[in-house]
Amino acid sequence: MLRDIIEEIKLRKEFELKTRFAVHPSTLTQCKRAIVLSACGIAQYTTTQQELMFCVANGAHAMMEHILGLQEGVHCECEKRIKIPEYLLSGIADAVLSGDRILSSYGTERIIVEIKTSGYLKANYTPPVSHIAQLNTYLYGTGIEIGEILTVSRTNGSYNTCTVEIDEELLSSVFSFLDEIYDSLHGGTMPEIDGDCSSCWYYEYCHASDASNIYDYCIRLFNETADNTKEYKERRK
Ligand code: SF4
Repeated sequence: MLRDIIEEIKLRKEFELKTRFAVHPSTLTQCKRAIVLSACGIAQYTTTQQELMFCVANGAHAMMEHILGLQEGVHCECEKRIKIPEYLLSGIADAVLSGDRILSSYGTERIIVEIKTSGYLKANYTPPVSHIAQLNTYLYGTGIEIGEILTVSRTNGSYNTCTVEIDEELLSSVFSFLDEIYDSLHGGTMPEIDGDCSSCWYYEYCHASDASNIYDYCIRLFNETADNTKEYKERRK
């Protein structure tokens, strides 16, 4: 069965898999193996329920981006792709805002806004470190100094904003964490399991009797076919 899945993925992602190994900053808190599987293009969230949840979240994103773009004195560039090739990171920031109002409010020409959705938001809500780390990678990748995390409640539409600036210590821990993953793949092994398998979407991949096939596939993609790992290999020489 696993072989069928792999062949299906290969066909669906044929071009991408030949050339791309990219970690999305939003996956950084997952198990290291889940990060690798996701970076190899093995999609998560394919069940109907999860797709529906994604639709709701994406709808909220689109709505907020639209509202931000309508504000006078604010220019909104939505869905900005940001790459950090030496760390194999590739993500999409929800919005980069610029304009007179941004300059007068923040004292800087551009800020990044990352939109998250949540259930009920407590009064003293603060975003999880994973969201702050994700935004930090976007700040690092663009050279923009300030970001905002806008968390919107799916329960009642209330929202929370949190201003984020570059946190060198946090970034350094993110990059070290990534290097552990890449060094392991470069050495020909999958990184260790460090997550809760029972609640993981990749359970059926990792716990199949022939899981080693998909792991071998990921290791080969990283070492033999992904052109974009060159920057990582150069940096680690
Ligand atoms: S099933 Fe377990 S080992 Fe596999 S990605 Fe998920 S948490 Fe990691």
